[in-house]
Amino acid sequence: MIQLFSRQLAAALQLTLLLVLALPAFAQPHFNGGKAYQYARAFAAIGPRWPTGPGHVKAEEFIRNQFRHDQLEEDTFIANTPIGPVTMHNFIVRFPGKKDGVIVLGTHYETNYPLRTINFVGANDGAATTGLLMAIADQLRGKTLDGYSVWLVFFDGEEAIQQWSASDSTYGSRHLAAKWGGNGTLGKIKAFVLADMIGDKDLDIQRETRSTGWLVDLVRQAAKKYDYEHYFFQTEEPVDDDHLAFVQRGVPSIDLIDLDYGPNNSYHHTAKDTMDKVSAHSLAVDGDVILETIRLIDIR
Ligand SMILES: [Zn+2]
Repeated sequence: MIQLFSRQLAAALQLTLLLVLALPAFAQPHFNGGKAYQYARAFAAIGPRWPTGPGHVKAEEFIRNQFRHDQLEEDTFIANTPIGPVTMHNFIVRFPGKKDGVIVLGTHYETNYPLRTINFVGANDGAATTGLLMAIADQLRGKTLDGYSVWLVFFDGEEAIQQWSASDSTYGSRHLAAKWGGNGTLGKIKAFVLADMIGDKDLDIQRETRSTGWLVDLVRQAAKKYDYEHYFFQTEEPVDDDHLAFVQRGVPSIDLIDLDYGPNNSYHHTAKDTMDKVSAHSLAVDGDVILETIRLIDIR
């Protein structure tokens, strides 16, 4: 009788222990990738958003409306491009934190001028990460953050107007990095995290070789927390992107980018870059890892 009781007790204790150990895994709230996907789908539904085109004006309106109750700054500038001067618009949304310093999350939102002749909506290339940042904003809004302030930046003019070169690409980030370098803002930035083309259903984020080592390590650590390691850094290569102007000015930066999109990269910069190639799950992976990376930077 006593033996039976103790056996039952032992079993009950074992079950309790199992539940307690398993609880953090169940209780770990995941980022709402579905929300990010919804924003991305609505944004991509605007259609092509090349600079000077009508869709671009609608994209600007979408961003202004999305952040109408937030600290939204519009950074308008004139870019010298192969087709002449083009007015461009970066958008900066600020969520204040208790710690002195800033973490910047960036994406580009426009589509390619040379692709204006096809129906290129940039579902993965521009819209997915725009939706991702909008869903991240939903997590940051309405409170003072315990860590650093987080600023979201929606860059214009990442894509080449004619053909990719150092002077015909990344207009928005080069403009903003120079402006923030001149007025002292860059000195406040603890980390710059760029998201580009990481809505891909078949997610494999490269280790971009000019990204800052400790930031790569923190992202890897964040991915490990969720057992997401296989999505990250299985291959490495240098990529020219919106982070470079910040890297060149000494800001710790990382480009989270998946350059492998569709069979033989056949969805990249084609009319095949549509929402059916993007998944809420990939955006949940991104959101989980970016938010955890922010937490790790805050306690670094
Ligand atoms: Zn692109």
